Amino acid sequence: MPKKTIPIQKILEKIRPTWIERVASELVQNMEMRADLHEQLGRFFDLLVQSVTTSDTAWMDPILLDWAKSSTETDLREGLYQVTFIINRMMAWTIQIASETLTKQQALDMLKAVIPVYTYGLGVVARYEMESRVAHITGEMEKIQRQMERVDRSKSAFISVAAHELKTPITLIDGYASMMEDLIREGGGVPLDGLLSGMQTGIKRLRAIVDDMLDVSMIDNDLLKLNFQPIQLENIFEILNRDLQETIRNRRQTLEIKPFEGSDTWIYVDAARILQALRNILDNAVKYTPDGGKITVDGRTLPGLIEVTITDTGIGIAQENQAIIFEKFGQLGRVDLHSSGKIKFKGGGAGLGLPIARGILEAHGGSIWVESPGYDEEELPGSTFHVLIPIRTESPETTMAKLFNELGRKE
Ligand code: ADP
Repeated sequence: MPKKTIPIQKILEKIRPTWIERVASELVQNMEMRADLHEQLGRFFDLLVQSVTTSDTAWMDPILLDWAKSSTETDLREGLYQVTFIINRMMAWTIQIASETLTKQQALDMLKAVIPVYTYGLGVVARYEMESRVAHITGEMEKIQRQMERVDRSKSAFISVAAHELKTPITLIDGYASMMEDLIREGGGVPLDGLLSGMQTGIKRLRAIVDDMLDVSMIDNDLLKLNFQPIQLENIFEILNRDLQETIRNRRQTLEIKPFEGSDTWIYVDAARILQALRNILDNAVKYTPDGGKITVDGRTLPGLIEVTITDTGIGIAQENQAIIFEKFGQLGRVDLHSSGKIKFKGGGAGLGLPIARGILEAHGGSIWVESPGYDEEELPGSTFHVLIPIRTESPETTMAKLFNELGRKE
């Protein structure tokens, strides 16, 4: 008499609770799983039964894709094929449960029916996870590609702006040199003072550009070394005020330096570098403000910081450019507008002034940003540059020395 065979669905129904419990507890041990784990496993099992009953593995597709799509960013980055791994383990646990709870024949019948469904599931999720990983890697590569393109553009911007910037003073020096040559050749005892001072102007400008380039490269490579000494900001502004007087007069501008709370506080900074940073900002305020405009320096004390504001009545800066200008070669004008004029209205430079100012301030633990309603050469909305300088009442070197002394004593 043939043995009575139990339908596969019945066998599966029988192992359903054990299967869900076992798989859930194993998964919880192995990885961080979602809160609705039991529900998800129930859904998986029911679809497995459905696939076996109808001999159509496509029933599994929705849950397989749902699971495969839930791979996290970390899984993708680290190349973890989580769902493929889970399905693989599920197949192993199913075999184990079958051998523990069913008769040999029932186990064989059941496995014959469910293993093809698992194999199909493995194929689907492995392909999906592999494709997601490839898409992830492609995305990462595109990001790198875009970064490299940006670096490349910045490099060619550097070459064109630097070449243009360097060319102007070189042309100047060249011109004066040939004039001097002509005069000397003619042998007439004409005084050469005027020509020499013209030449010196060109050389000075050339040196300033090269110095800026070296500073940017030092900042980029974290090589900026600060020489801390005690100063009062009002002294720095006195120097800047004196240096700018002639330009301000020529441009018929007004420069007002207000005494502010904190301007007479003794703080430790690299005075030459802070002077350089503030000079760059003030030079810009002069450059991007038309004749007759006003520049105001003010400030206040904040907890642990001094805030300096430099406000002008100039052409302003569009919202979208307010971060770019602190990037290297972030000058917004056209290369052909570059005039090497330090203070001429809109006489753009190499676009290194603000990146250097930012580098110096950040090296001090401070920061810089700009506020402006927008760019308008007619309405002249103006800009306000904010500078934060930490209040150090002791040289960081002294602090370090003290710390080492303390450590030395403890040993
Ligand atoms: P540049 O040598 O071109 O002046 P900077 O780094 O000093 O380079 O400044 C970058 C750009 O930021 C300038 O080209 C200019 O477009 C803009 N900018 C800087 N300061 C001001 C300001 N006070 N008003 C308007 N625009 C400014």
